Amino acid sequence: MKIEELVTMGETYLMNNYKRLPISFVEGKGCYVTDTENNKFLDFIGGIAVNNLGHSPEAVVTAIKEQAEKLMHVSNLFWIESQVTLAKILVENSFADKAFFCNSGAEANEGAIKLARKYAYKKFGNHKHEIIAMTGSFHGRTLGTLAITDNKKYQEGYGPIPEGFKFAEFNNIESVNALVNENTCGILVEPVQGEGGVTPATKEFLEALKVLCKEKDILLIFDEIQCGIARTGKLFAYQHFGVEPDIMSLAKALGGGFPIGAVVATEEIAAAWQPGDHGTTFGGNPLACASGVATLQTVINEKLWEKAETMGSYFAEKLQVFVDTYPWVKEVKGLGLMMGLELEIEGASIVQKAFNEGILINCTAGKVLRFVPPLVVEKEDIDIVIDALQEIFTEMEVE
Ligand SMILES: *Cc1c(COP(=O)(O)O)cnc(C)c1O
Repeated sequence: MKIEELVTMGETYLMNNYKRLPISFVEGKGCYVTDTENNKFLDFIGGIAVNNLGHSPEAVVTAIKEQAEKLMHVSNLFWIESQVTLAKILVENSFADKAFFCNSGAEANEGAIKLARKYAYKKFGNHKHEIIAMTGSFHGRTLGTLAITDNKKYQEGYGPIPEGFKFAEFNNIESVNALVNENTCGILVEPVQGEGGVTPATKEFLEALKVLCKEKDILLIFDEIQCGIARTGKLFAYQHFGVEPDIMSLAKALGGGFPIGAVVATEEIAAAWQPGDHGTTFGGNPLACASGVATLQTVINEKLWEKAETMGSYFAEKLQVFVDTYPWVKEVKGLGLMMGLELEIEGASIVQKAFNEGILINCTAGKVLRFVPPLVVEKEDIDIVIDALQEIFTEMEVE
């Protein structure tokens, strides 16, 4: 279908909740995608940190094909081999002892909050239910996750928002201390904030949170939906800081492009859930978990976090030159291949100009150019992006 025709049809039949570029991709391999007019684009958005293995990675494609031909869905009334296998891989490679599977990031955070509340309810009673989230946070778009997302615009018009949630200042332990009381059930943090502007937590902050949580019987919950699965140069971002959470949510890259989410937790916390306490029809279905298994096996066999680390520092070094050259380019932020370039100006026009040059990047928090390419990216690809940005920046007139 021609793109003009597709846009007209889309505007007729789809709800208008997304702002889309007038382009449609039909094919992808590695870091490149091809549109309906056969134009090739270098993809540094990676499906918003989903395509860590690149587009249509062979191992995942094969796993999905084989599983689809055998069995796609049966429900959690029965045991599912790929689900159990995926749980085992997650447990063997993280702090966690148990896993639960769902279908998206928001759903994983809903599960994490419900698990934390149930645990506190059983151990301490109904009063201990408050969750402290951080300024700059993004945790999803369901009613529950909106309550912990620090963005008034996302909340507007959807009230009443569920209660029992508070916001402390990210990377400021005093601000967290000020909100903690006997009702505090959990503290929820992204070890590297994504939508909020690609901002890593400080080691001191996470360490202080861990001490605080231990002292006051509070659960430490990490949202690694964007920063997990090797993105930051470790399999999980918390491994940079030497601080283990009690509960962690995962999604985005976990299925190599196939939708899947997970909540993982320690044995003691996970035991708060007994049959009937939580569930979802599609969660952990054979197809999603087969893609999860293939994804994690590939990531682990290829030690893809090492690639994220080396390519990330190569990229960061090149981006730093812009900071040193242009007074309106403020700071290189991020970890591994979760990279941001903070500007003094709005970034939308730069995203558009890069798009015109065949490069997909994205802007978050208004002024932060965000780069979350597939982790299979090569130096030549990074050079292409840097050269294009160089050209765009040189031509820009900023007061
Ligand atoms: C994307 C994201 C979510 C929400 O995931 P969905 O699959 O869009 O519901 C939650 N937390 C973080 C940190 C994310 O980046």
